[in-house]
Amino acid sequence: MWATPSFKGPKMRKLSAAVAAFAVLAALIGAHSKDPDLFVLAVAAGLYAYTTWRGAEMSSFMKIFATIFSTETIVFGFVRLLQGEGVWPQTLASYAPPESMSVTVAVFSIMVYAISRIPVVQEMIRIADLYFNADDRGEARVWPFPRFTAHERGIAIAMIVVLVLINQGQVGISVRLSFFNRDWFNAIQEKNAAEFWRQLLYVFTPWAFIYVTTAVVEYVLKSMLTIRWRRWLTEHYVRRWLGAHTHYGMTLAGGDADNPDQRIAEDVNRFIDGGEEGYGIYSYSILLISTLSSLVSFSFVLWELSGNYALPGTSIYIPGFLFWVALIYASLGTIVTHLIGRSLTRLFFEQQKREADFRFSLARLREYSEQIALLSGEHEEEGSLLRRFQRVFANYLAIVRKRKELMGFTAAYGQLSPIIPYLITAPFYFAGKIQLGVMTQTASAFGRVESALTFFITYYTFLASFKSVLDRLTSFDRAIDSAQATIQNAQVVSRAASPEISLRNLTLSLPDGRRIVQVDALAFEPRQSALLTGPSGSGKSTLFRAVAGIWPHAVGNIRLPEGARLMLAPQRPYIPMGTLAQAVVYPGEAEHFSRAEIEEALRAARLAPFVERLDEDNNWGQRLSGGEQQRVAIARALVNRPRILVADEPTGNLDPVTSWEIIKLLVRVNEIGTTLVIATHNAEIVNALRRRVVHLDHGRVVRDEPEGQYAA
Ligand code: ADP
Ligand code: MG
Repeated sequence: MWATPSFKGPKMRKLSAAVAAFAVLAALIGAHSKDPDLFVLAVAAGLYAYTTWRGAEMSSFMKIFATIFSTETIVFGFVRLLQGEGVWPQTLASYAPPESMSVTVAVFSIMVYAISRIPVVQEMIRIADLYFNADDRGEARVWPFPRFTAHERGIAIAMIVVLVLINQGQVGISVRLSFFNRDWFNAIQEKNAAEFWRQLLYVFTPWAFIYVTTAVVEYVLKSMLTIRWRRWLTEHYVRRWLGAHTHYGMTLAGGDADNPDQRIAEDVNRFIDGGEEGYGIYSYSILLISTLSSLVSFSFVLWELSGNYALPGTSIYIPGFLFWVALIYASLGTIVTHLIGRSLTRLFFEQQKREADFRFSLARLREYSEQIALLSGEHEEEGSLLRRFQRVFANYLAIVRKRKELMGFTAAYGQLSPIIPYLITAPFYFAGKIQLGVMTQTASAFGRVESALTFFITYYTFLASFKSVLDRLTSFDRAIDSAQATIQNAQVVSRAASPEISLRNLTLSLPDGRRIVQVDALAFEPRQSALLTGPSGSGKSTLFRAVAGIWPHAVGNIRLPEGARLMLAPQRPYIPMGTLAQAVVYPGEAEHFSRAEIEEALRAARLAPFVERLDEDNNWGQRLSGGEQQRVAIARALVNRPRILVADEPTGNLDPVTSWEIIKLLVRVNEIGTTLVIATHNAEIVNALRRRVVHLDHGRVVRDEPEGQYAA
């Protein structure tokens, strides 16, 4: 699952070796200078080197983060070593990263690594890797530079790296500002106006400005990354779904991949960007990292600050006292929230299903609008639509009820949270043991740690609902794979130099294995026209599907002439959305045909009145009559000029006069050189046409009468 073809393992190994070398160096210098902090750094870096080494086979997506962290561990680690040795330039003193920085990076990169071992997360990574292993090229523009092309994954990786750095930088700025906060309030307490203004103008203003700028850049990058990723994944699934007639194979197979449209449109989006009430891969990676950084950084701050406070009422000092309080407080809050709200996940899921149901029935109404109007079925439709909406309504009420309870708790919790740290620190402040600035800094660090912990725990509980998105994408993938495998195993159609169409020892079955067609030998000569008749259900359409190469449950041999274009006209012609010209040339593209060609075909198919409306964008599938649609199919054959045309019941639902017109048009197509096979059970046509007739019954050829011999 982890191994991916485009993975470049050795690079990762080199990085991890560099981190290990750094760990050794830190340990040596630590031993020399007897600095215990350096030992912590050495251990953290060593552990991290070990994990990346072990994970050298890791996914391309995880590799991005591992690389960032390795580099950071080394860079910040060196800064720390320089500081430890006292060789960090004095002029840069106020720009030095906090001493804990490198340990912080190493610690949370180990955490990220641990998280990536969770099975759900691995599933997530597998889907993410589709994008990060792709070889496509993409276009991008970075202001003020011109447009350029590069590997799409390279562009995405660059965006992720910048986003991670921005997020970490923002955490860094927050930490810096928490010290500003301390100094500022101390200045206020001491009524030191000069210091107050100095802090405000020279510390707060520049950092706040940088923060705002990065927030805007972050927003733009995040949006570009998620939409590009979604575009790629959508293209990926659309191609896979349409390729090799897979979509058709999947409808035949049934199975667990319902609503492919929803999977491609919604689940892909939810996978990347989350939804209203969940997180997507973006939150699960970059947001997680930023929250983890915030958690770790402010935990250090809080830990240090805890030194100021003894246990209330005693003189006992517990290391990291306030950190533990925040941890317990956040856990209690999250556990209660979870207990009250755990049924919400199911309710949200249900809501989505009911909304989709409702939407689908509206769309269906639009599609069958004519039939419903003819039957005056509006009353019944109204009832059924409103019933479906009633289900949406009822579930929504259930959500409101649950959320009301939850709201009571979370609002109280939210009000209380900022007060808690003041409650703890107030006695020390009033006793004059700490200054106002320390008190407010403690409060803000407490708040940061508490909210990061809360995010972290909710995030974990949301994994369950995110899993449903993952499952839907994964099962979609599996259904595509199995449909493709079935089709590939059943490749009975081959091309041969001989100009005739020949079927040999062909057996076609249903998905459940029942045999429906059994043809020992059947051939059609070039330019021949033949009729295939037989009662409804005798297997004519299935035989045609096999000839078109889309019936996956086939054994035997179908040979078609090399290079010959085959066109199959189904019983209900397909009229795509768009202009009439597009419908006529389908599946060709309108640009590849001259205007005159299309018009001529339209006239030949006796659709002259429509020549003026060729460019009209209309719902032609509903505008044209049945006979007109069949004529569009014939015009289609005329412009596309297939060598073989197979028409399945072209006169199926038409009146005798129109049926004759259609048949005569088909005969004309045959006369310009196309081999023609028509399936029909219309005895009149069979009698009058006097062509070769192949009778099919229960899937077997029972009679085959050459041209001219047939007489009723
Ligand atoms: P014809 O075109 O001669 O009327 P078909 O080829 O459409 O006959 O159908 C032959 C038989 O196969 C019928 O009994 C039909 O019910 C069955 N059949 C066709 N397609 C499917 C399918 N996708 N799933 C199950 N049964 C099918
Ligand atoms: Mg049929």
